Amino acid sequence: MSKNIDLTQEGIQVKRSCCFFCHQNCGVLAYVKDGRILEIEGDPNNPTNQGALCCRGNIALKHLDHPARVNYPLKRKGKRGSGEWERISWDQALDEIAAKLDQIRNEFGAEAVTTAGGTQRTDDWARRRFMNLYGSPNGFHNAHLCWIPTFMVETAIYGWCPFETDLTSSRCLVQWGHNPGASGMPEMRGINDLKQKGLKVIVIDPKFTETASKADLWLPLRPGSDLALALAWLNVIIWEGLYDAAFIENCCVGFNELAQHVKDYTPEWAAPLTWLDPELIREGARMYATNKPGNIQWGVAIDQSGTPAGAAMHARALLRAVTGNLDAPGSDLLTGPSKEFITDEEMEANEWLPEEQKAKQIGSDRYKITSWPGYGKIAQLCKDVWGKAPTAEWMCEAHPPSVYRAILTGEPYPVKALLVSATNPVNSYGESLQVLEALRKVDFLVTCEYWMTPSSMLSDYVLPIAGALERPTFHSVYGCSDFVIATQRAIQPMYERRTDFDFWRDLGIRLGQAEMWPWETLEEANYYRIYPLGYGVSSYDEFVEKVFYHFPEREYYKYGRIGFATPSRRVELVSSTLAELGYPSMPTYIGPAENENDDPDLAEKFPLVLTTGGGFMPFHHSEHFQIEELRFLRYEPYMDINPTTADKLGIKDGDWVWIETERGRIKQKANLTQGIHPRVIVTQRGWWYPEREACEPELGGCLESNTNVLTSVADKDCDPIGGSWANRGLLCRVYKVESSTITSGSNGKDGK
Ligand code: SF4
Repeated sequence: MSKNIDLTQEGIQVKRSCCFFCHQNCGVLAYVKDGRILEIEGDPNNPTNQGALCCRGNIALKHLDHPARVNYPLKRKGKRGSGEWERISWDQALDEIAAKLDQIRNEFGAEAVTTAGGTQRTDDWARRRFMNLYGSPNGFHNAHLCWIPTFMVETAIYGWCPFETDLTSSRCLVQWGHNPGASGMPEMRGINDLKQKGLKVIVIDPKFTETASKADLWLPLRPGSDLALALAWLNVIIWEGLYDAAFIENCCVGFNELAQHVKDYTPEWAAPLTWLDPELIREGARMYATNKPGNIQWGVAIDQSGTPAGAAMHARALLRAVTGNLDAPGSDLLTGPSKEFITDEEMEANEWLPEEQKAKQIGSDRYKITSWPGYGKIAQLCKDVWGKAPTAEWMCEAHPPSVYRAILTGEPYPVKALLVSATNPVNSYGESLQVLEALRKVDFLVTCEYWMTPSSMLSDYVLPIAGALERPTFHSVYGCSDFVIATQRAIQPMYERRTDFDFWRDLGIRLGQAEMWPWETLEEANYYRIYPLGYGVSSYDEFVEKVFYHFPEREYYKYGRIGFATPSRRVELVSSTLAELGYPSMPTYIGPAENENDDPDLAEKFPLVLTTGGGFMPFHHSEHFQIEELRFLRYEPYMDINPTTADKLGIKDGDWVWIETERGRIKQKANLTQGIHPRVIVTQRGWWYPEREACEPELGGCLESNTNVLTSVADKDCDPIGGSWANRGLLCRVYKVESSTITSGSNGKDGK
């Protein structure tokens, strides 16, 4: 309880709210008087953070009422991007937006309207519900880069994604392309505690990260070579007889075929591809397989590797299966969806989207596992076995680069409107120059936002959205967990902010969906969702205050009772679902999107290997650059370069340098570190400069240091299974910026 607030003061309320400045959704206690928050602190009773808040969480009050927040609905006055705005009412904004969407649907079909959403700070099911009822299959997030292909590939193989790591009795944790030391404070704290009790930690990461510093074994692989490493681990585990014979005999199909398939993928074969010593590869495989139970913690590195991503996540999934580290105590758990509360999927109204509209989902002809062809098949298997399906929002989306291309080219059909919700596409999506052109070109652009971002600067309407302290949050891991942690608004939204739920509902009502939105507030909808839990409460707020969270009793080895949600009801080491979708049934080696072996000419021009980097404190994706207290911690962007390489290039610590790929160039400052290979460059992502002009041509300096300028979304560089585009393992070159002022640079392919 707060040391600074006198709780005996009359009128003080303590509200159980949360932080959603990253995916952890830490609990926050807010001390409220007369509708104003006096102070916040970490909620000691929240099972996620147990009272702790990181530096981002601690600035929540700055975020709440920052002078740069968008607080009223705005309509563009001048030319697009001119920075001239007119304040209007919500009613006017919603009436005009609804009229335009109706017109687009009549002229071009509902599929001409698309939506882009941010990460776990929007009301996802409400957006999906609106889009399904409107008739468009074309919603998307950065889902293809972040867990979703992993979820779907793993679900194809063993019927659910084992994202719940049961660490308490684990003996070995593999952190594969994941650095909670920088991106997940509560998780890192747990690992530190478990290490004291003997947990072995393997870190697979090109960079010597905060988490690597705690590891028993660090495997600094070439960025993008995860597939080669996973195949070699399968080879070692199977051919050295380290697999779980009983689990394979009783629960799997296809072991002999898999064994033959990986026979030639030896550590010696993988060594030149991964830049790892074969003995180090063996040591890692043995450590994971012989210290049971064990876990492989998912990270986004594989999801972001483009071409080999789907095969790599497939191979990584098989490692769990052949070692029997599935749904056993201390292993990775197949929780399945909640049987008890109403899931996101059940709120989405997916059954209302006609089949002919599902077939129009952009990208679904190529990237089937993350769109209706694959999702539909897998969702049905899940319903047959678990009784419910994973959420369609995130798991079943349009392919974002293909949507931006459709805006620019009219192929496969015209896309006329983009509704953006708490995301900044120019800085968040691959090949930023293409995204920027698409946002400049799209006929109708509406953004629901906290800030004036480079993307909202180009919008026709910018609508003010409520933050974490101003809305109830129903945390159930994108609607795919069997538990819920429920938090409440600390205060009603300030100024004229509203929740996304309000936006989608009010827009839906104007477009003839009134009967489908029976809940007037998000609390009413959440109450409907938790009611089946049977706690006997009369409102959602009462649930938060008296119950707070619901974790079902843990049941291990559920497959013994219900089987796995695959066609054979077993773990499919040879996947029939992937084969039916036209993909390899076993993972086969493909090189990274750009690499020195397949394209030596390109490697001569671009001799270094780029990874566009993971999360780093104190920012999150492209967020929080406005907040002075966080910019004090990092005022400028830094890229990591080995001192040997820097020396050869005449680069000193702190110099501004250009980083260039075939797509363009950006500049960041050099951070000389021995913690990466001399051939690897690691950049920071998300950077833009809110202190710059909020209009064309500056647009907050959105291209200058933005790593997405460097990435590739070309179809040839995308994962053919899940559609991930290439953020990592690309070829690049680095050279010093002659003029070291931050404002003098230019970008792109102009060669300046
Ligand atoms: S930003 Fe920090 S406090 Fe907020 S949810 Fe993430 S880890 Fe928790």
